[in-house]
Amino acid sequence: MYINVLIEYSAFNIDKYFTYHVNDEYQDLIKIGLRVRVPFNTSTVEGIIMNIVDKPNFEVKNIIDVIDSEPILNDELLELGKWLSKKTVSTLISCYQVMLPKALKMRNKNKVINIKYNNYVKLSDVSFNIDNLTDKQKDIIKEFNNYDEILYSSLKKINSSVDTLIKNNILIKYSKEEYRYHKDSDISEKIVLTEEQKNVVQSVNLNDNKTYLLYGVTGSGKTLCYMEIIEKVINSGKTALLLVPEITLTTQIQERFLKRFSKIAILHSGLSDGERYDEYRKIKNGEVNIVIGARSACFAPLNNLGVIIVDECHTDSYKQDNMPKYHAIDVLEKRKDYHNCPLILGSATPELIHFAKAQKGLYQLLLLPHRVGNSKLPKIKIVDLTKCERINKTNISKELYDEIIKKTKLGEQVILLINRRGYSSSLMCKNCGYVFKCPHCEVSYIYHKSKDNLRCHYCGRAINKPDTCPNCHNDHLSLTGSGTEKIEEELESLFPELKIVRMDLDTTSRKGSHERIIKDFADHKYDILLGTQMIAKGLDFPNVTLVGVINADTSLFIPSYKSPERTFALLSQVAGRSGRGDREGMVIIQTFNVDHYAINLACSNNYISFYNEEMKNRLVSKYPPYYYLCNLIIKSKDYDLVSNESRKIVNLLNNKLVNMEVLGPSVCSPFKVNNVCRFGILIKYKSENNLIDVLNELINHYKSNNKIIIDVDFNPNNI
Ligand code: ADP
Ligand code: ZN
Repeated sequence: MYINVLIEYSAFNIDKYFTYHVNDEYQDLIKIGLRVRVPFNTSTVEGIIMNIVDKPNFEVKNIIDVIDSEPILNDELLELGKWLSKKTVSTLISCYQVMLPKALKMRNKNKVINIKYNNYVKLSDVSFNIDNLTDKQKDIIKEFNNYDEILYSSLKKINSSVDTLIKNNILIKYSKEEYRYHKDSDISEKIVLTEEQKNVVQSVNLNDNKTYLLYGVTGSGKTLCYMEIIEKVINSGKTALLLVPEITLTTQIQERFLKRFSKIAILHSGLSDGERYDEYRKIKNGEVNIVIGARSACFAPLNNLGVIIVDECHTDSYKQDNMPKYHAIDVLEKRKDYHNCPLILGSATPELIHFAKAQKGLYQLLLLPHRVGNSKLPKIKIVDLTKCERINKTNISKELYDEIIKKTKLGEQVILLINRRGYSSSLMCKNCGYVFKCPHCEVSYIYHKSKDNLRCHYCGRAINKPDTCPNCHNDHLSLTGSGTEKIEEELESLFPELKIVRMDLDTTSRKGSHERIIKDFADHKYDILLGTQMIAKGLDFPNVTLVGVINADTSLFIPSYKSPERTFALLSQVAGRSGRGDREGMVIIQTFNVDHYAINLACSNNYISFYNEEMKNRLVSKYPPYYYLCNLIIKSKDYDLVSNESRKIVNLLNNKLVNMEVLGPSVCSPFKVNNVCRFGILIKYKSENNLIDVLNELINHYKSNNKIIIDVDFNPNNI
């Protein structure tokens, strides 16, 4: 028997099948989708069986062994991977690896993630006379009046005679697969839907593969609609997949789901590799009918899907930054067709692309225009940072200060957003203007006070904070700009009596820390939650009546055509955290740009006007949804090489592409990351024509040149 194997190395020059011979002893085990160990060059590698083939007319080696007894990828996912690798111009193996938990990824040399087993005991069928037992032994036997099986370790702890009973065959000891991640469900009463919510739920046709855009303002009860639809689906014997943007939100959503459903698996980066493996196995073994997870959960191996939902579908993190650079929604569009089930995209601030599709009738629009019950959208006030009075020269305006005092006196809570972590944005010499930059990445270092060091947010390198300027040897160094750490310090000095918690990448690196902060804030152990954009979306704290944005401009002037859209979404989302309970909410937005339309329209809750305004800009400047974008990044440590080759590539693209605009090469921002120089080439097009073919040709041409790397990125986030 001969098989074709796709091996673990993700490189374009070996992105093809290799044929191996299967010796007799393994023949009965072979199935498509299993992992095998095979010799490759001089080493042993892992790969996946892609198909069984006839005897080739060249010499081949034997496989070494078979790793799995069941395929790690089913037919649907094997086909999906092929489609994805074409669509994103990625290696096929990278598309399969991204679907698997670490424990099942090919080449998982460093660390073996095992299935966890636990020992249990139960009564055997052997008859025995209870009078012959000691008192201690009798106690143990009594326990089995209440339970069929008991964890061996727990019996052993209280009573050592358990071993004698096992030896005498009265009890049997056996081991059982154990799942590491436990969440108890606590099924409680069901909430009655509002008329608007009922309408939404009834409008979704569960027997069709349509895509819906659920545009519902913050606090309109989208999550409740999801639950209602999912309940219908599982009652009909099918399964449901719910994607949520990130771990911050999973915590709260998970809790709400556990109040109503029990067979749920959770997949996100906050779990350990072992826990993820276990959750994955629950899905594969058909033990759950709902999966809630972040981006990569779009590949969850659920059979018989009845609905797919993407919450906060406008979130950038649904797009992966490295190969394969896929967007979860594209993958799900494909999967809903396979399963013939609906796909529901939910957001209070839909991406322009999605809303445009709804306008065109490609998506069916569902609306929740009002908040639930008596709660109204919060009042939003803009504070002009160029004019306003600031308290003690801090970043806090008098308006925001007064409102924090007022709300917290009433026992209400506050969320404050500052979209930059660290203490300051840069360290500058006041004498000569020198700015400390990471020499490997050409971006300014960010000062972190907790560790008293300067850190590069691109490559992670850190240096001790210098005392003098290397340029003019002066010691007048000053910190400019403010991040979360600095604001936290200011708040502590302004409000010594209030309890403040900070949530950003630095305070949430430890496992379980997200959950703890969110839970503690929900339990009112803190008055103020201060954080980066990770606190802006989805969270539901009914006691929060004030949201403050320390500086609305941080996201506005990042050079990207999406900056206004992102700013609008960020401000609308964070504002949406206020006043979700019975009391009216208030929002204060501090900005240097009071006249900017993204800020103004976010303040008046006017999505439609923003959409219309921004669509005009996109048309004029030829950006999505009017044009598609594909960005190439040409990378090398050798400056001359990369700059010459980039120019050649632009010429080649201009000659070969039909009806497309090729822009560049231009220097990326930052130009250097980790000493690698980067040039960007942007392709704008209305129809894909021969684009994929030309890109494949290009990749093929460079695949054996290990000095140049070409990254292909469709619908890039960072342009
Ligand atoms: P969204 O996801 O649209 O921002 P949520 O689903 O978080 O909104 O709902 C906001 C709040 O309103 C939640 O606390 C939720 O429990 C509550 N809620 C939603 N629907 C109803 C309803 N029909 N009756 C009562 N409360 C509801
Ligand atoms: Zn760096």
